[in-house]
Amino acid sequence: MDLRFSLLAFYSILIFVRTNPVLKNLPTYQPGRPIEEVARELNLPAASIIKVASNENPFGPSPLALDAMRKALDGLNLYPDGNAFYLKQKLAAKLGVEPSHLILGNGSNEIIEFVAHALLDNEGGSAGNIIVSQYCFAIYPIVAKMFGANVITVPAKQYAHDLPAMVRAITPQTRIVFVANPNNPTGTLARREDIVQLVNDVPDDVLLVMDEAYIEFLDDAADLVPLIRLGTRKNLLLMRTFSKIYGLAGLRIGYGIGNPDFIAALEKIRQPFNVNSLAQTAALAALDDTEHVRKTRANNFAGLEFFAHACRELKLEFVPSHANFVLVKVGDGAKVFDAMQRHGVIVRPMGGYQLPEWIRISIGTPKENERCLSVLKEVMASRQGVSPVR
Ligand code: PMP
Repeated sequence: MDLRFSLLAFYSILIFVRTNPVLKNLPTYQPGRPIEEVARELNLPAASIIKVASNENPFGPSPLALDAMRKALDGLNLYPDGNAFYLKQKLAAKLGVEPSHLILGNGSNEIIEFVAHALLDNEGGSAGNIIVSQYCFAIYPIVAKMFGANVITVPAKQYAHDLPAMVRAITPQTRIVFVANPNNPTGTLARREDIVQLVNDVPDDVLLVMDEAYIEFLDDAADLVPLIRLGTRKNLLLMRTFSKIYGLAGLRIGYGIGNPDFIAALEKIRQPFNVNSLAQTAALAALDDTEHVRKTRANNFAGLEFFAHACRELKLEFVPSHANFVLVKVGDGAKVFDAMQRHGVIVRPMGGYQLPEWIRISIGTPKENERCLSVLKEVMASRQGVSPVR
């Protein structure tokens, strides 16, 4: 018996699990650092740290969602409704579509993966390619590479998507075009007429994913839902999330809006209980929380203005943003991130996005914005060897 176990132990050293070769060069997504981790590392009280690194809602979850979740706790012994009947009904009514136009994901990130499963199928030895912009949301290329697809990255124009160039980059092998509007991490917004042109120009056999994670922060968003409602563009998929405006990032829930046939294909890929019951309950309640949405939007507009004004004063280049964060050029992003973190303010360094001179700051409460700015000033001043800018 003993001998058998020791032989097993011996062989387990020699034999390794053979992983998929694409994993070898697959980049790892670098998320914003959790407060608790930074607190442990720097030996600071967690309460003294602010995190403005992951474009979360600074006012917390929707209070209506919190109430609804408390009431739903007793039902956690049961599996969730895999088809999310009530949430789909409510979303469909709000959007003016049918529930069959909707798919729910464990965050909209999961929907990106569904799409890759459905379209980057490696049939005939080629998984095709996807088209993205320089400075696109990091998950698109990661997921595409995971499926063995090529990634065609189209140079950005003043940090924004060059949509006509993205259309020109489409080849017979192209399966998906990904456009986040507003874009993360740049905060740029494409003009309405350019979006209309894009939607018309992407060929019918290529899926256009319009990632609208930040759409609720806009004043006058181009509404693409009618194109889906009317079936005008069957190759269009919109993605939205409860993580940002509704403050439910920790629950992981997002949704896609698309052609029913395509949605039905995605449904086959989805795990039956991918969206947990608290997330469904919270999302349902959050849709009614117009006060939380109003407050979040108003705070965001003011916060964007606050940082735009501050950057102009400090003569720091920034990209005018339409989302709930702002990209600021600070010289050495990694060092400034590090120094700010030591002052208890977690921002996001942008080296992973090929923007090593920049940091991304999420809009916080007015108090958090003030604190973040004062730390930024102090860090920038100490890096220039001059006294803090006042
Ligand atoms: N798309 C974009 C553009 C994002 O910035 C994010 C969140 N960072 C997501 C999708 C994913 O959001 P979630 O998975 O939390 O719904």
